[in-house]
Formats: sequence, C-alpha cells, structure tokens
Amino acid sequence: MGRACAVMTASPTDDNASPEHRIQVLTNELSHTRGELMEAREQQAATAEILRVISRSPMDLQRAFAEIAASAARLCDANDATIIQVNGDFLRLVAHHGPLASLPLGGNTFQLTRGLVTGRAVVDRRTVQVADLPAETDEFPEGSDMARRLGFHTNLAVPLMRAGEAIGVINIRRTEVRPFTDRQISLLNIFADQAVIAIENTRLFEKVQARTCELQQALEYQTASSDVLKVISRSDAELGPVLDTLVETAARICRADCGLIFRLQDDLCHTIASFGIPAEYKDFQLCNPITRGRGTLVGRTVLEGRPVHIEDAAVDPEYTRIEAVQLGRQRTMLGVPLVRDDALIGAITLARSRVESFTQQQIDLVTTFADQAVIAIENARLFEEVRARTWELARSLEELKALGEVGQAVNSTLKLEKVLAMIVAHACEISDSGGGAIYVFDHARSAFVLEASRNMSEELISMVRGHPIHLGETLVGQCGARREAVQIADLAKVPPHPLFEMHLKAGVRALLAVPLLHQDEVVGALIVRRKRVGAFTPQIVNLLQSFASQSAIAIQNARLFQEIEDKSRQLEIASQHKSQFVANMSHELRTPLAAMLGYAELLSDGMFGELPEKSIRIVERVQANGKHLLGLINTVLDISKIESGQFKLSLSEYSIDSMVQTVRMATESLASAKKLFFKTNVVKGLPYGWGDEPRLTQVLLNLVGNAIKFTEAGEVCISGGAKDDSFVISVSDTGPGIPYEERERIFDKFHQVDSTSTRAKGGTGLGLAIAKEIIEMHGGRIWVESIVGRGSTFRLELPVRARASGATA
Ligand code: ADP
Repeated sequence: MGRACAVMTASPTDDNASPEHRIQVLTNELSHTRGELMEAREQQAATAEILRVISRSPMDLQRAFAEIAASAARLCDANDATIIQVNGDFLRLVAHHGPLASLPLGGNTFQLTRGLVTGRAVVDRRTVQVADLPAETDEFPEGSDMARRLGFHTNLAVPLMRAGEAIGVINIRRTEVRPFTDRQISLLNIFADQAVIAIENTRLFEKVQARTCELQQALEYQTASSDVLKVISRSDAELGPVLDTLVETAARICRADCGLIFRLQDDLCHTIASFGIPAEYKDFQLCNPITRGRGTLVGRTVLEGRPVHIEDAAVDPEYTRIEAVQLGRQRTMLGVPLVRDDALIGAITLARSRVESFTQQQIDLVTTFADQAVIAIENARLFEEVRARTWELARSLEELKALGEVGQAVNSTLKLEKVLAMIVAHACEISDSGGGAIYVFDHARSAFVLEASRNMSEELISMVRGHPIHLGETLVGQCGARREAVQIADLAKVPPHPLFEMHLKAGVRALLAVPLLHQDEVVGALIVRRKRVGAFTPQIVNLLQSFASQSAIAIQNARLFQEIEDKSRQLEIASQHKSQFVANMSHELRTPLAAMLGYAELLSDGMFGELPEKSIRIVERVQANGKHLLGLINTVLDISKIESGQFKLSLSEYSIDSMVQTVRMATESLASAKKLFFKTNVVKGLPYGWGDEPRLTQVLLNLVGNAIKFTEAGEVCISGGAKDDSFVISVSDTGPGIPYEERERIFDKFHQVDSTSTRAKGGTGLGLAIAKEIIEMHGGRIWVESIVGRGSTFRLELPVRARASGATA
C-alpha cells in the first residue's frame, strides 16, 4: 500500500480574506519567497561547492561524496544522508552524513533488495519516498525493520542514473514523519546527478590515468627494448656490455634492485653480466658457478625451464643460497630461462632487496628481455664466427701473398742471400714466430751453414757459425736426417745441447725446423723460433714446407746460376785464347805465304829464267791458290782481330769515285767471265770522304764479289751518291735474291743462306760480318733489300766524315 512520491504543496491565497489577513498572507508569501530565494542561493552555493570539489580533486571521490551527503542532508533538512553504490547484487555504503547509525548490520555492504527503500530506487530506477517507513512492514520488510531499529521514519531515495543504469542511490532520512517537499525531491535529484558526475569523472579520470600510465610504461619498455636492440645491433658490440645494458634495463623497468645473466655451460650456470650486485656478493657469485637445483633461483629456473618467482628468499623453505640474501641483499626474486631453439642456454634473474612480488606484466617483460639476451648471445656467436672466418680468410690471403712474393723473388735475379732473407722474414711473419733462419747444407763439410737469419743476436749468429751442424745433430740436423719437419714444443724439456742452451738464454721456447729438399737431396733447412711454449699447428708446418720448397728452388737456382756464370767465364777465357791463337796462327801463316807468293811472282816474271809452258801454268795456279789462301787468312785474321777487340781503322781522305773504279777493275774480269753486264753509276762531284779506304774497298769488293758469285745472268751494278752528310752506295744484282727472314742473319759470322745454290758457291760466311763491322766502325750502316728470284741490293750509308770508334788517323 506504499505511497511513493508523496508531494506536499504550498496553500493558495484566499481572495475573501480581510486586508490584514491579506497583508499577513502577502507578508508571509514575501518571507516565504525570500526564504525560497535564500534557499535557492544556498542550494546554488552548495551545488557550486560540490562541483568545485569534483573538478578540483577528481581522484578524491570520497570527498565529493562526503560533500554531497552533507549538502543533501542540510539543504533537504534531513537528519542524515547516505550515498550508496551498486556492486553487482550488493549495495555498498560509500558516504554518510548525519547522526543516525549508518548501517544495518555493522558492515558496509548489504544485499540489493526491493525490500529496502534504497534497493527499490535502484531496482525500479526511480525516486522513492516513504513517509513512515516503520509502518510499511509489508511493502518494505527489510527497510521498515531497519527504520525501526535505527529510529527514522520518512525516507527519500533517488537513484544515481548513468546511461539508463542505476549505479547507486542517494538516500535521506528523517527521525519524524515529515515527507520531503517537491523542491527537496528535485534538489536531491540534483545531488544525485552530481554524485553521478563525480563518479563518472573519477572513472574517466582513472581510465585516462591508467591509459596514460599504460602508455608511459609501454613507451618506457619500448625505449628500453630499442636501446637494448640498438646496443645489440652495433656490429662492434661486445657481448659483455650488451648484456650489462640489458640486465640493467630489465632491472630498472621492473623496479628491481639487481639482476644477473647466466650462461649454462657444462651444466653449470656462469655469471656473464650483472647489475646492482654488491661487490662482495659479485666476487662470491663469479667464483661459485651454480648447478641445477631448487636451492638457488637460477638453479631452480634452469631446472624448471620456465619463469620462477620466489616471493621471499629469506623464508622460502627450499632456498639455500643464504649468501644471496645476506651478501646480495636479495629478497623477492624472479628468474627467467634463456632458451634458444628449445635448448636452455642460461637465465636472467632479477631481485629486490624488499619483499614485493613481481607482477605478471613484469614477468612477461623479463621474458622479452630474456629473448633479447638470447638474440645478443646468438649475435655475438655469429659475429665471432664471421670474425674467425674473416680472419682465416685474411690469413690465407696473407699466406698466398707471401708465397707469391717469395715465388717472385725466387724467379727474380735477386741475390740468393736476399731471397733467403725474404723467405725467412715471411716464414716468421706467417708462423707468428719471433725469429728464424735458413741453413744451407755444405756437402764438402757435410754440415749445415747459416745462410740467412731474422732476429738473431750477433752472439747467437757467431755461436751458430762456429758450430757447424751435422746431419742428425740438433733440430736442424734432425730434420735433415729424417727429411721431414721436426719441432720442439718446449725447449726447456729436451736434453740439453749448447745451441739449445743458447736459444733458451735468448728466451726461445719453441722451435720448428723444415728440411729444404731438392730431388730428395737435402740442400738446407728452414727454422723458426717462438718465445712462447706450444706446438706449431699442422697448417703452419705445411706452410713452412712451401717456403722450404721455395728456398730449395732458390738455392738450386743460385747454384745453377753460379755454374753458368763460371762456365761462361771459362768459355770467355777459352774464346779469348782461341782468338789469340787464330790471330797468331794467321799471322804466322801469312808470313811464309807472302814469301811463297813473292817467289812465285819472281818465277812467273822470269827472274829465274824462262820457264817451260807447263811450269808457267803451274806457277800461275800456285799464285791463284796462294792469293785465295791469303784472302782466307786475311779474313780469318780480321775476324779474330774483331773478336779480340784489336780491329782498328786507319783514317785518311778517299774518293768514292776512285774506290769504285778500283773495285770495278779488280772484278770486271770475273763478271765478264760469267757474261754479266757490269755497270757503275757514281754521281759526279761527290766530296772526298774521310775514312779507312782499304777497309772500305774491302767491303765494296766483298759486296761486288758476292753479287758476281751468286748471279748467273743479268747484271751487277755499283751506284754512288750522297744524301745529307752521308754517302749512299749500293751494289745490286739480278741473282737469286735473299729470303726475308735471312736479311739480318747473313750479317752474322759464319752464316750462309742454307740452299744448295749458295752452298755450292763456297765461301766462309765471314765477309758480310766483317763488312758490317767496318761500316759501323765508320758510324754508318749496311742492309740488304731483296726479292727472291729477282735479285738483291746491298746498301751502305756512310758518313762522309767517319765518326769512327777506335780509329787511328
Ligand atoms: P760468303 O759469301 O763467303 O759465304 P758473306 O758473308 O759474304 O760470306 O755472305 C754470306 C751469305 O750471304 C752468302 O753465303 C750468301 O748466302 C748470302 N749472300 C751474300 N750476298 C749475296 C747476293 N748478292 N745474292 C745472294 N746471296 C747473297
């Protein structure tokens, strides 16, 4: 039977009343209006105050509620006011103002029910006023019960509506039966709206704040991640600093005090990066790698292979590493495993010196950092691999370069000493050895002799020189005897030998000797020395064997070169002897021959009486053969003089014209005997020349002689002219001609064109060689132009005044 929303209205004025009464009424109305005005002002002020509170401190919802409750109670003239929020099926008291006890059962939450005035306002989403609640036992069983117990009667509840939903209720009560006026009801509605604004404001504010916070955190995480990635991606980044940055960032973002990164190696967790670890604990940590097991955070993390959270290490029953708590001041701990391709490779751990759990978000974040650590470790591994490969490659290139250089040196004309010094230098460099040497095996002494060295003290050199090494003796002798590389990884551990002692004194600890073999014969040894203990790798041994082969070749080359030089020298001496002998012999032959020719001439001239016809022909033959022989001897003598450098010109004035006439006269009979047409064509008025006339005549005679000799039909012609400061003389014929490839060679000693026709003509093959020498000694040149089958033209270019070398005037 409840009466919802009972509204009291003011009484109207009575038109029939007396003037006094009317004045009274008007006065009343005035004061009522004044009161309403004041009330309105007061309401306005209160509303403004509430709005100010709401806007100034949006986070302080409680204060806004308190303000609203107080204003509502005061302005609606209620004994108390409460603000209640809906929380699912429950109502929760959030503000209370007034002397009445606020709650029915002592708690601040109670069941949402229509049996309560507040509950009904919420459920029905409308304003509910009950004038005398204790009397409404049927309609509001719980409400009337509460009213009786708390001692109130009139109750007004206005729902707090947001988007059609009742999210709470504002409730005012009176200890008497006096329903609230319409104005008070609408006033309470305003307060209800304000409460909704306050709630909404706070909700939005919180939302904005949460979002801002989220964004900020995301940004912070992102920046941190990108910082770490930046460090990781730096190509020169070393793993240590990268991981240090990573663990530091992880600790900072997750509000941890310290952090560590471990690498799992041989089932032990080794610290590889740390942040915020107290020095004394750090040392302990570094010296004590951790095994798998539940007693430590990292041990437990790698054991379980998933994130491990220890709320408080100080009270964790399984945790045993008390040093972490005592020295490291670690309480709440978080460990996340580092996993690469399903394999556990380590863990990242964070710890707080206070007890404060890590949030799920933080755990997720550390997992991200763990992934980054794995990337960094993987990167470093790949980088290292690439670096190693690059280094290997660079080294191979260096080796190739060194081998190339050595090869070049070996094939060059450098002195053996220099080549070997270069080989030792490269061998030392490539094998990373401080010093080295090359010994050459001296077969005569049957010992190795030092030939080239690098970084060997004078003392050591003289010691080695004074101590010839025999086969089988010391490392050099041993490698020679065994014909293979031998090495000593630690000189201090081998039986003593004076040379070893000396090396030890110089700080040498390891030695490698490689034999130099030539056709399986030992020609020497290459040795390198290091000041550190340790065996030389097979790669180095192989490389030094290449150097050894090169050295053997160099030594062999040098030996061959030496032999050739010796032989050449011997040959030269022999040749000089021969030339001398030939010159002497020619001279010796010429003297009796000249006498014989002289007598023959006297005989043919009839100085010894008239000779019989037969004898005359014989004497003539003796004369002809004798002259031929003399010619030959003269030619040989000339050549031997040229070879021994004794050929000299004797310069004087001469005339080309008369020289040509002399030659013509001497040879014309030969030409006519072969029925050859003989022509001479010398330009008139040629200047006198300055040169060795007999020798030049000899040249011309030889050319014309050859022309007549080789030509069977046609003509022979001598031409003479001048051009610039030279005479130009040519001897042409219509003979067989000279093949193109023979044009140069016919001027060589003893060279004759190899054909039956020319061979059949006899001759020594020396005439043109002598002619060339004579012309060149005059500063001129001689050459031949020819077409095979058509004839040849020999040309001379002869300076009018000889620029003679070795001439005597
Ligand atoms: P020789 O005539 O004594 O053999 P030369 O040095 O004078 O020696 O000549 C060398 C060679 O050159 C000759 O043997 C011949 O083969 C070639 N030769 C020289 N002159 C002529 C020529 N006019 N015609 C063809 N061949 C020639």
